[in-house]
Amino acid sequence: MERQTFLLRPAIALLAPLALLAQAPQPDPPGLKPLDIYFLDTEGGQATLFVSPSGQAMLVDTGFPGNQGMPAAAGGAAANGASGITRDADRIMAVLKLANVTVLDYVVVTHYHGDHAGNAAELASRIPIRHFIDHGPYTVELQPNRIGAFVSYQPVREKAHATTAKPGDRIPLADLDVRVVSSAGELITKPMEAPAAGAANPLCRDAKLKDQDPTPENFESVGIAVQYGNFRLLDLGDLTWNQEHQLVCPSNLIGAFDVFHTTRHGDPHAGAPQLVHAIGARVAVMNNGERKGGDPEYWQIVHEAPGLEDFWQIHRSAAGGAGHNSPEQFLANLSEVDHGHYLKMSVRADGSFTMTNERNGFTKNYAARSRKPDASARR
Ligand SMILES: [Zn+2]
Repeated sequence: MERQTFLLRPAIALLAPLALLAQAPQPDPPGLKPLDIYFLDTEGGQATLFVSPSGQAMLVDTGFPGNQGMPAAAGGAAANGASGITRDADRIMAVLKLANVTVLDYVVVTHYHGDHAGNAAELASRIPIRHFIDHGPYTVELQPNRIGAFVSYQPVREKAHATTAKPGDRIPLADLDVRVVSSAGELITKPMEAPAAGAANPLCRDAKLKDQDPTPENFESVGIAVQYGNFRLLDLGDLTWNQEHQLVCPSNLIGAFDVFHTTRHGDPHAGAPQLVHAIGARVAVMNNGERKGGDPEYWQIVHEAPGLEDFWQIHRSAAGGAGHNSPEQFLANLSEVDHGHYLKMSVRADGSFTMTNERNGFTKNYAARSRKPDASARR
């Protein structure tokens, strides 16, 4: 335990700004497990599992409810489990089992659309959940075809230990520094303690803004920055383009990241280049379905991001065609008729990590970045 505490001292992060030189990965002390991250396939929803080195688990979102994400039947009858099919809940439980997770310490429900909150109640009936983190006990979308996931989650939430996230809050998952950067329409307003945070962002000068689309629940998304040693991952749920803009303009409040979990499945209502190109991620992971997200314009923005080495996708995008999909080994699923293959990332505290495509066993190592103190980049 002492070793882990040392590796996670905040002072290490302060002295670790972004640098561009790669170096050979330094092995972690013997016996120290990696941080494992599983990017599950929920056919265009989200479910991302973090298992910390000491075994605590955090699930970010719960996929579609039992109707397999198909449009609700006339009259909105396709409630959670009504079909008897629990595809995404089954996929999540299968991965929890292979990761030896028997208790979920935290379930973050980024927002209450069905592709994120869909199995919150279902999972609570299958596995102990110690804490829920969400944006609060309301939803701004009350239409019959939109409110189902919230309605199913509410009774569970009332009985559970649920915390309403506020920007700047820390989710105390062991070994990691998990920070809330957005929640309930609010954003952090000061630079994070992170490499390159606080730096002026030249991409703001010509940045475009977009009109808010008519799905305001996305605006409420809980967004998080996950840090483990020198490693940082950004996941903003389904936050909107203009909020992404606010997080990085006129200065970049969130800093640099190693991994960008694409906002909103690769839908063009998110993916502002002033953010995607400013955070310097080496790897992007897109939680798209074959026909959800995976927009060619979004894909191109990510593809052109400075410093990006690889763009992994949960699915081949039908809209992306030949020109806007990554090479096949980086795609977890090639069609909707699949077995829900996941991507697994194992992260070491030095910032090096390994990505594995569960479909074909393809694995790629990413060496730790060389980092040296640079007062101008700290904040
Ligand atoms: Zn979504």
